[in-house]
This record gives sequence, C-alpha cells and structure tokens, in this order.
Amino acid sequence: MSQVLLRALVWLPVAVVVAVAMDLWAAFLHGRVWHSLLWSVHRSHHTPRPAGSRFEANDALSVLHVPPAIALILFGCVGSPGLLREVAFGVGMGMSLFGLAYLLVHDGLVHGRLPMQFLVRLRYFRGVARAHRVHHEGTAGGAPYGLFLGRWELAITRRLKRSRPSSARVQGSSVPRT
Ligand SMILES: [Zn+2]
Ligand SMILES: [Zn+2]
Repeated sequence: MSQVLLRALVWLPVAVVVAVAMDLWAAFLHGRVWHSLLWSVHRSHHTPRPAGSRFEANDALSVLHVPPAIALILFGCVGSPGLLREVAFGVGMGMSLFGLAYLLVHDGLVHGRLPMQFLVRLRYFRGVARAHRVHHEGTAGGAPYGLFLGRWELAITRRLKRSRPSSARVQGSSVPRT
C-alpha cells in the first residue's frame, strides 16, 4: 500500500469525526459564549447591517478557528512522521471542512451573503435553513444554536419545553402544602 493511502487511512476518518463534532462545539460556543460573554460582538449578527456594509463584527468570531486549523495542517505537512502528525492533519482538515461548509450554508444559503440558493433544492438544507431562522426569531435568539444538527436540537428543545410545564403542574397540584 502506498504511503499516501496509508496516511489517508488515518487522517481521513479523523477529519470526518472532527467535522461532525465541530457542529456540537460550535453550538456550545454559540449558546454559552456568543450569547452571553461575547453578546456585544455576536449581536451584530442579530441586527441589520448598516447600509452599504458587507461585514459584521460577528465575522471575527467566524474566523476564530482559522489560525489553529492552519497550524495543525502545517504540522501535518512538515512535522516528523508518525501518528501524531497524521491525527493533527486530520483535525485541521476536519476543522477546515466544517468552517467552509458553515460559511457556504450559514452565510451563503441562510443569510444570502453568497450565491448558494441552489441548495434549497435539497430537503436537508431546507430543514437546516428553517431551523436556523428560528434562532433568528426575536432579537436575542434562542435554540437551536447548532447549524447542521440544528433541526434535531430544535425538536429536542421543543419536546423538553412541552414536558416541563406539565410536570411542574403535577408537582404543584399533587403535593399538599403543610
Ligand atoms: Zn445566522
Ligand atoms: Zn446567535
């Protein structure tokens, strides 16, 4: 087996797993950091852009993972041969793949900043766009915070919301005050 193929057998599965895991990581950051600690920056994504402006302050958060991804890929190219090098390359490639997909689907398809409207022909992407628009309802946003798995996050959040008031009612009515 050639060296290139052998290396790909390590870094390719790592890249796929990391690309999927990045949506969970992005959802965590979006919900717990962008919408709390960094709301002053992320707010620019939830309010209309000033006339004539193509960029928003939130774009800075979108490119936050670019330097570590480049560093990992570079290490994967020039580091000393071994498992660590291949894993680092896979992680960097997975992060880059997710970043590119996020840019095309979130900024392109959902927010119309890039010509990606042809993706609405696919049912999966229509679902992604619909779920993300729910996040943009109101001014402060809410679940779903993830993008590619957002429709499932939304379904789980709604199910939890539906079950919560009823359990509170049951507790309130069935436990007598003494
Ligand atoms: Zn958005
Ligand atoms: Zn948001």
